Amino acid sequence: MTGNLHAQQEKASILLIYTGGTIGMMENPETGVLEPFDFQHLKDNMPELKKLGYSVSTYQFNPLMDSSEMGPECWKQLVEIIANNYHQYDGFVILHGTDTMSFTASALSFMLENLSKPVILTGSQLPIGMSRTDGKENLITAIEIAAAKENGMPVTPEVCIFFENDLLRGNRTRKINADNFNAFRSYNYPPLAHAGIYIKYDVAQVYHPVSRKPLKPHYLLDRNIAILKLFPGISPQVVESILNIPGLKGVVMETFGSGNAPKNGWFHTMLKDAVDRGIVIVNVTQCVGGNVEMYRYETGHKLLDIGVISGYDSTTESAVTKLMFLFGHGMTSKEVKELMGCSLIGEVTIPDKYN
Ligand code: ASP
Repeated sequence: MTGNLHAQQEKASILLIYTGGTIGMMENPETGVLEPFDFQHLKDNMPELKKLGYSVSTYQFNPLMDSSEMGPECWKQLVEIIANNYHQYDGFVILHGTDTMSFTASALSFMLENLSKPVILTGSQLPIGMSRTDGKENLITAIEIAAAKENGMPVTPEVCIFFENDLLRGNRTRKINADNFNAFRSYNYPPLAHAGIYIKYDVAQVYHPVSRKPLKPHYLLDRNIAILKLFPGISPQVVESILNIPGLKGVVMETFGSGNAPKNGWFHTMLKDAVDRGIVIVNVTQCVGGNVEMYRYETGHKLLDIGVISGYDSTTESAVTKLMFLFGHGMTSKEVKELMGCSLIGEVTIPDKYN
């Protein structure tokens, strides 16, 4: 009896949420275009699911989506599904298109406050029905990671992306390749695990909740955010039109190198005017890795003087969704600026020396 009970308790239960993406797509025989297909198709191509020894329940989005169509409404739906099923499952796996997976992972990391169970996003570059698919391995390993426990506690209680061989902190990732199976990177934070013959966890890098507070799901997001990507020769008209979008609250400004921007008078006047109107401008680098250091060059320093804040080593995906989240909770510009300078859930490294 005890043995039986023990065995039952050890069988991890996973909720697999299928939102869409290439992993479950099929080629339309008439047009040759890849289109989302239902979960049964995915299951039919994955007899391995039954052999895993976990109890896997499924939830399918209706309609299934290409991830380029996803945004705040879908993120809220995901939070709701996880919150409503939080106590029944040991972990959650989200099947998601790769195109915007880093945005979803970043948003969920902020929206699922006090998360103490794994939420692992994965997908694939080739549909699961194709013989060379990367989807099977990605899905099976993601489920194993979501189920993994050490001394009865989940090994990776955070929002992650598992892809190809690496488990990455979700809010540190970006999609870096449209073709390769190895499509995601986290340049500013080490992988949380590497899957070879064994799954080797780097436990010291995993975010562990400091308190045992219950999950606090958040549903409020503000879409009045823009991205301003600088390029040599950018015109005043482009900058002006972005900074004067009605209702705009926050801008993620992608600058050069370690946070540099041209010294043009018109550019600084426009930025200063926007900051004075209460718009929060966050400086992130266009480089795939590394930090914004606004004290390093005169061109960056000038931005600090104007009131532009540093995004340090944040990804654009993380900075955009963090601004949506903070403004979504009705915070003032001052409060948002303060929290942009703090790590909420491991999304940014704040250096000791203020930069
Ligand atoms: N367009 C697809 C999507 O993001 C690509 C993929 O899943 O890899 O939904």
